[in-house]
Amino acid sequence: MAINYIRVSVTDRCNFRCRYCMPEGKKEFIPHSEILSYEEIAEIVRVFAEFGVRSVRLTGGEPLVRKGIESLIYQLKEIEGIKEVSLTTNGFFLEEKAEKLREFGLDRVNVSLDTLDPEKFSFITHSGKGSLSRVLRGIENAREVGLTPVKVNTVLIKGFNDSEVEDFVKFSADYGVEVRFIELMPVGGEFFSRENFIPVSSVRELLEKKFGRLEPVKTVKMGPAKSFRVGNTGAVVGFIPSVSQHFCSECNRVRLTSDGKLRLCLMSDREIDLKSLLRTPGYSRELLRKTIAGALIAKRNINGIEALESLGCSRKMFTIGG
Ligand code: SAM
Ligand code: SF4
Repeated sequence: MAINYIRVSVTDRCNFRCRYCMPEGKKEFIPHSEILSYEEIAEIVRVFAEFGVRSVRLTGGEPLVRKGIESLIYQLKEIEGIKEVSLTTNGFFLEEKAEKLREFGLDRVNVSLDTLDPEKFSFITHSGKGSLSRVLRGIENAREVGLTPVKVNTVLIKGFNDSEVEDFVKFSADYGVEVRFIELMPVGGEFFSRENFIPVSSVRELLEKKFGRLEPVKTVKMGPAKSFRVGNTGAVVGFIPSVSQHFCSECNRVRLTSDGKLRLCLMSDREIDLKSLLRTPGYSRELLRKTIAGALIAKRNINGIEALESLGCSRKMFTIGG
């Protein structure tokens, strides 16, 4: 499959500390000097655009904690070939930032939200009182300023939010957002155990039992998620079976970590150090082109077996960006 999508982690820092993402007590972050500058990110994306990348997603850590993120969005939108710049966020800063992000060219946002219960929200994210309401206002604001379609990412955790599936259906209809159920991956903090895993297929079955066959919604396909209308509730949901089904043959993406490593597969620790290349005296874009061309060939050769064998990648999710 052609690689047309890059996920760029702009920071490993975050104002939350979700239990499945960041280890408890985590204090050490990548030093600022090791984080790619916005110019370095733009340089890498420029070369990927030459090779056919059309869509960039900014992620983290929390991308909205990095200063001046709007200027990166602006730079990326100026790159020939880049058609869409989107962002995945925990939504905490959207209330105040959505409008400016839109002005600087951001196309849309995905907001991570695992529970609609304020106390459970604070528990899972290690955040203070009032955080959930703030995120909900952020989602509304994102919609109002046109960062649409707004999608909500919900990581399914048995015993934590599996009782809220129908609440999320109602939420989708009320807020006019698609809710995408995501499988918990074994790369997080203290909150992953096999007992907490639920395949998205079981949520799908539950919804079909209650609301009848889910009707697919036609979309421009950018990834493995597929969207469905839930009966006549007005809700739209999606399912991301990232653990139960490997879709390597359908994978259209690569990932850039905030410290400048190119990851060809989320589940494989094989990384290519683009930062060192950019910072080598006498750097030339041609060298970057050659390295990226080689990486894209290697990406084509990754198959499901490699992904399966390396499940349990050594990086934590906040350093990769999901
Ligand atoms: N801070 C932003 C956010 O939370 O949306 C962006 C970075 S976060 C690492 C990106 C996505 O990864 C989020 O949707 C989060 O829920 C997801 N994620 C983190 N750890 C995960 C895990 N162990 N399994 C599945 N998804 C995970
Ligand atoms: Fe932060 Fe996002 Fe990880 Fe939660 S999932 S700790 S918000 S990076």
